[in-house]
Amino acid sequence: MRERKVRVRFAPSPTGPLHIGGVRTALYNYLFARQHGGDLIFRIEDTDSTRFVPGAEEYIIESFQWLGIQFDEGVGFGGNYGPYRQSERKEIYKKYVAQLLDAGKAYYAFDTPEELEAKRREIENFQYDATTRHLMRNSLTLPPDEVQRLIAQGAQYVVRFLVEPGHEVLVDDLIRGEVRINSSILDDKVLYKSADQLPTYHLANIVDDHLMEVTHVIRGEEWLPSSPLHVLLYEAFGWQDTMPRFAHLPLLLKPVGNGKLSKRDGDRLGFPVFPLEWHDPKSGETSSGYREKGYLPQAVVNFLALLGWNPGNDQSELLSMDEMVQLFSLEKCSRNGARFDYVKAAWFNHQYLLRQPDEAWVPEFDKLLRQNGIESTPEREAEVVRMMKLKVIEYTDNEGNRKKRNVSFISDLWPLTRFFFVAPDSFDRDDKFVRKNWKDDTAAEMQKLAALLATQDDFTADGLRALVDPWAEANGLRPWNAWRICLVGAGQGPDMYELAAFLGKEETLARMQYAVETLGQVDSNN
Ligand code: GLU
Repeated sequence: MRERKVRVRFAPSPTGPLHIGGVRTALYNYLFARQHGGDLIFRIEDTDSTRFVPGAEEYIIESFQWLGIQFDEGVGFGGNYGPYRQSERKEIYKKYVAQLLDAGKAYYAFDTPEELEAKRREIENFQYDATTRHLMRNSLTLPPDEVQRLIAQGAQYVVRFLVEPGHEVLVDDLIRGEVRINSSILDDKVLYKSADQLPTYHLANIVDDHLMEVTHVIRGEEWLPSSPLHVLLYEAFGWQDTMPRFAHLPLLLKPVGNGKLSKRDGDRLGFPVFPLEWHDPKSGETSSGYREKGYLPQAVVNFLALLGWNPGNDQSELLSMDEMVQLFSLEKCSRNGARFDYVKAAWFNHQYLLRQPDEAWVPEFDKLLRQNGIESTPEREAEVVRMMKLKVIEYTDNEGNRKKRNVSFISDLWPLTRFFFVAPDSFDRDDKFVRKNWKDDTAAEMQKLAALLATQDDFTADGLRALVDPWAEANGLRPWNAWRICLVGAGQGPDMYELAAFLGKEETLARMQYAVETLGQVDSNN
């Protein structure tokens, strides 16, 4: 067989927002195409007009733009194999349907929905196949002139694939190995419907993969059951020699429990299952997206790539797109489902956020501050990022458990950084840190420290350290925790000298004064 240029495709149906599993499928196709210097095609499979959702196609394109997954040709990208939207390829499919009919590999069926329903009630586990097709109204049972008459009269029909029973069908899958099934279990699938003059998914998919010279079909496991039929269709057309290689990717599993990842898992546990926020035009419902949640596209791509593919033991988990292109292999994809670990997704985002310079956090951080009524400068905001990006935050998960994690989203910085911009206006006397560090003589001690600071002109972190450390040492004091209560209001925050330098002399002294008055008084009342 001659070497063919690698050509793969991502072929979504525009029936709603792109599920995160679909993003992974597209990503694997992309990595595979890049690695082999091949082409990645974007095809829209919209032959089922009843399931069409407006906006879905645009949503899918925008998602890949955001994620940095580029297509070489297809809807919106041009190319020599178009049109790439199946609803625009009606005439092409008709020709191929006719070819199968002429060769006796497909037949007309005139059964009405009512007739089919009646048969289903009459015959247990009814399936339209070699055992039942002779009982039905189709071009195999009706005289040829009757068939012609019905068609000429405009009777509605479908074209069904004639599956010969008793054959072994081999699907050679790059991930699953050889999967063999007996053709007797297949039904005579509908390939075309006269009602809308459109082919069904199966026919359009095969014809397009053939005409677009697709070499590898990399798709989700849910399509594995369709693949024997697809193999038979390739044979029926006489296209065996250029049949694409199949690779069916493992399912994405629920974070906990059994079964495949669903939107409901995301709603319940609080993570998105869509790349971008989606506004459902019918229900008006909004579903959250990775982008809007504050994920970086590189983090999402890296996280998804490793759900079902493992490049090998010694390999770091943090991989750039280029590294993934180098390392990717279908052979190293797992057959077993991949558990969707959304905590790990946050970890990846943490890692990718840290790889960015502090300045890159600023636009988002600034937005966050403004939402909370705070205005600052980019320089000061970058300073705060530098001081706080390595902190751990406490949060309550959707099941009510208190948890800790690294700063993984820029939005985590609020309320972690509030005190940089807003002075504490009250102190929690019952707080463990406050109780432990604010004693009877603390107010006096803070007043001494304030007097010392008032003399200092060099209000930088280094300048303050050089002033306060020796003073504390000489007086046998450890003033830092109480000082923290003054400036932060609680037992958190960055290095005290850095914080004081950030706040400046005036603000530092004002906060100390306020704490001494407030906390000192409470104490003397006791
Ligand atoms: N239109 C199918 C989908 O929505 C394509 C499946 C395939 O890749 O063959 O996923």
